[in-house]
Amino acid sequence: MSATAVATACLPVLGRDVRVPLVTGGEVEYAALDYAASAPALQRVWDDIAAYAPYYGSVHRGAGYLSQLSTDLFENSRATVAEFLGCRADDQVVFTRATTDSLNLLASVLPAGTDVYVFETEHHAALLPWQQREDVEVHYLSAPRSPRAAVEVLEAALAARTGDGPALLCVTGASNVTGELWPVRELAAAAHRHGARIVLDAAQLAPHHPVSVAELDVDWVAFSGHKLYAPFGAGVLAGRADWLQAAEPYLAGGGASRKVARRADGGVDVEWHTTAARHEAGSPNVIGAYAIASACKALTEAGFDRLVERERELIARVRDGLAAVPEVKVLSLFGDDADRVGVLSFVVDGWNSSHFAAALSAEYGIGVRDGLFCAHPLLRELLGADDSEQGECGAPEAEPGERSLNAIRISFGAGT
Ligand code: PLP
Repeated sequence: MSATAVATACLPVLGRDVRVPLVTGGEVEYAALDYAASAPALQRVWDDIAAYAPYYGSVHRGAGYLSQLSTDLFENSRATVAEFLGCRADDQVVFTRATTDSLNLLASVLPAGTDVYVFETEHHAALLPWQQREDVEVHYLSAPRSPRAAVEVLEAALAARTGDGPALLCVTGASNVTGELWPVRELAAAAHRHGARIVLDAAQLAPHHPVSVAELDVDWVAFSGHKLYAPFGAGVLAGRADWLQAAEPYLAGGGASRKVARRADGGVDVEWHTTAARHEAGSPNVIGAYAIASACKALTEAGFDRLVERERELIARVRDGLAAVPEVKVLSLFGDDADRVGVLSFVVDGWNSSHFAAALSAEYGIGVRDGLFCAHPLLRELLGADDSEQGECGAPEAEPGERSLNAIRISFGAGT
């Protein structure tokens, strides 16, 4: 039966030291295969957080010893992240809530009149923030069927530009649906050739591959701590300072403001910070930033060469296992030759993906994700669905026997 065959293909990948009950009775070690949503935080990260607990204090404006310690911890975490990301000397690292927040922050600082280019295949976090701005124009690029086509589609779109105002490409480094790697370096080169900038959505890339802002020559990079083996609640936007510092703060409030004074006419004059603090109003998530820095150090010490090699082995094993199940179709935009991280989506002929995912959990203790993975246009493209077929993020779509506009995703990382 296909569920058993799929479970057999997936199971050897990674276990967790947690036992879960099965509907068939008994219990098994939980197979955590939903890292692309949130990866389990590393024990080392929890240990670092616990070690910090006695020294916990307010940051930035406290004169006390613990406040100064917390401030150092926060600012050193920023420096660690900058190093992890291979930032240029004058780049700024802003702590945010997660990738979604980082990209919305960047959208908020775009100069008026910016042309934004984004592939329709992106995660909604990368697809949607730009249209919140009425004074920028968003150009949606059609789904490319190869890395080379991605560069060609971008080149053609940028060549067709009529204005010479600012332009920005937002692109993912690795797909949260197919796990396929995007040609970031080539896209950055193409963007820059045409005077455009590029922001890399590294939510799925950073946990699996080294990301160097300078080497890839991207202008900004965004990622989430909770996908990088740190707990929920913090993320990063790092890159060029100029647009960040020319714009109004993302949030107004204490921490972002350097000087505030009443005016004679009754108003208030504000002088904003020109550092990352400009976009970090309010009390910052010091523990979140520290946890990200701890995870960055752990990954660097583990060595990305080893992690990449191990994940290639694991994903190849899963793909081979699934290829042996005739009812399974693995979803791919770029085809079999694509390099990929430990993320893979598939559908099973004759099954609603939600029911199949539920069966993997209840009968085999395998935790996967089902749905459209917040990338509806991509899923429609991969499933060959037309626009009249609707789907919601993560929602079961079909009754048994009906067409199922959703898929099953397994994802893992060698970081744990
Ligand atoms: N970009 C990609 C490629 C993702 O996979 C995700 C989350 O799944 C995001 C952005 C958004 O990340 P977050 O939910 O942490 O803001």
